[in-house]
Amino acid sequence: MTSGHSNLRTDYCGELRADDVGRSVSVCGWVHRRREHGEHLAFLDVRDHTGIVQCVVDGAHDLRSEYVVRVSGTVRRRPEGTENSALPTGDVELGDCHVEVLNTAEPPPFPLDERSDVDEVIRLRHRYVDLRTERMQRNLRIRARVNSALRSAMERQGFVEIETPMLIASTPEGARDFVVPSRLSPGEFYALPQSPQLFKQMCMVGGVDRYFQIARCLRDEDLRADRQFEFMQLDAEAAFVGQEEVLHVISEAVADATEAIRGERPAEFRRITWHEAQERFGSDKPDTRFGMELVELTDIFARTEFNAFKAPTDVGAHGFAVKGVRVPGGASKTRRQLDELTERAKQWGAKGLVWMKVEGDRSLTSPVAKFLSDREQTVLAETLAAEVGDLLLVVADDRHRVWHVLGLLRLELGRPPVHEGGLEYLWVVDFPLFEGVGEDGSPIPAHHAFTMPHDDDVAMLDSDDPATLLRVRSQAYDLVLNGWELGSGSVRIHDSAVQTKIFGLLGIDADEAHARFGFLLDAFRFGAPPHAGFAFGIDRLVALLAGEDNIREVIAFPKTQKGTDPLTKAPTGIDPRHLEELGLRPFPKKQ
Ligand code: ASP
Repeated sequence: MTSGHSNLRTDYCGELRADDVGRSVSVCGWVHRRREHGEHLAFLDVRDHTGIVQCVVDGAHDLRSEYVVRVSGTVRRRPEGTENSALPTGDVELGDCHVEVLNTAEPPPFPLDERSDVDEVIRLRHRYVDLRTERMQRNLRIRARVNSALRSAMERQGFVEIETPMLIASTPEGARDFVVPSRLSPGEFYALPQSPQLFKQMCMVGGVDRYFQIARCLRDEDLRADRQFEFMQLDAEAAFVGQEEVLHVISEAVADATEAIRGERPAEFRRITWHEAQERFGSDKPDTRFGMELVELTDIFARTEFNAFKAPTDVGAHGFAVKGVRVPGGASKTRRQLDELTERAKQWGAKGLVWMKVEGDRSLTSPVAKFLSDREQTVLAETLAAEVGDLLLVVADDRHRVWHVLGLLRLELGRPPVHEGGLEYLWVVDFPLFEGVGEDGSPIPAHHAFTMPHDDDVAMLDSDDPATLLRVRSQAYDLVLNGWELGSGSVRIHDSAVQTKIFGLLGIDADEAHARFGFLLDAFRFGAPPHAGFAFGIDRLVALLAGEDNIREVIAFPKTQKGTDPLTKAPTGIDPRHLEELGLRPFPKKQ
């Protein structure tokens, strides 16, 4: 008998095997399926979270799908030839059964054994039924094992779990806050934390040394397959450490979680600089499970006659680039498919997309071939290592736009499905400090405003030239898995002179800095140790470990893409008296 059984049962359904033949057992669960067996008997498949066992019962019982039952009987071998090798319990069945109905059930809103065409809203509306499916049971248990492995790994490495508040002032993660009106201070609001960022930094000032938390974070952003309003992060911060220690600690935790689920420890996580990631994969979260890398072609066209490949006079802060990708075997694409690809490239911001097919005699077929010299065509094909039957795609534009467009085309044409190609963990390091220049002329931080610039680039912060500022690297790093950004972190600024300079560059004056982060800046005046940290999304890690491409599949009660919960009906209106108490009046709804 396995531990954890109540008096109601001696065994779990999915655990009975040939070794148990002859034992008298009781199992409990839901009626998965019923099939008539001759005139008087019925086969009853009973299901619990471990699986299914077949019971041969008296056909007179009224036993319908999802009724809750207790079946007591004797384990016996199935008659020869009737074994079911697809089922772990398929060699045995329960005979001489006594059945008790513990509860009846309405017919389930959808079948529990085939999932493909059930509308997700219906699944979420009856999530308690959906959770009974093998897939959801498996995913929830994977999630619990990941949490447990992460927690142990952090504790083993000296990290202390500290809970931080949910009702706070705003955090600097750059998304929109969810806000909660205050009854005791009408007209004032708490923000729900986008992350525990400021609190964990204050823990460092508070001498905690190594902090972690499996933290709930809330961001009011549009939802996607890999994004929910509320999500869980493994959040960590450590004092007297730099990037190397953080990368090591987090790699250990993620490797432990991976091993707990996949049974095998991943190889040491590779590293790539942000710049190399963009140049080779056109993304700061490259999916390195497949090739099709971006190839530099700018020099080949330095003196070209083809206008689209000529650098404009005003090349902008990022410079001009011509780059291409080789799509193996892609020459079979039809004209219509190529027109569609071109359209997509334009939607992503390209002025156009040049395609070329490599013919049997290695010549290039393309609407623009006549504008390119023979030399240009030959060197282009050589540089892209083109083979007969390939498709070559070339984009010429602002360098960042070329990365963006070719990066997306690469994914569109080459990305393997979620459960193929293994797990490619990758640290992306040396992020730029600024990701661009805003409309007011101030640079936009790529991470948050407390991120330390790269030691070698600090002097560049004094430059007036936007192109120089955009080249300043930071001590910020991301962890990427199969093209998904799992998380980010950085070495923090603990020196007030550097912090003031960064705020100045970001256009945040002393008053604004004080209003937004005054309490952290105050804390820093009382002896802040050098510190660094990281946070990554547990939902995303669990989804990829479970082979799911949507995080909703690994969250017990997620929201739909529109941010609603079909089960509880949230969000809902509230009682006008409650609103009044909060000092709020709703705007009339637009018709
Ligand atoms: N708070 C950051 C985030 O949620 C992570 C960090 O810098 O530690 O992305």
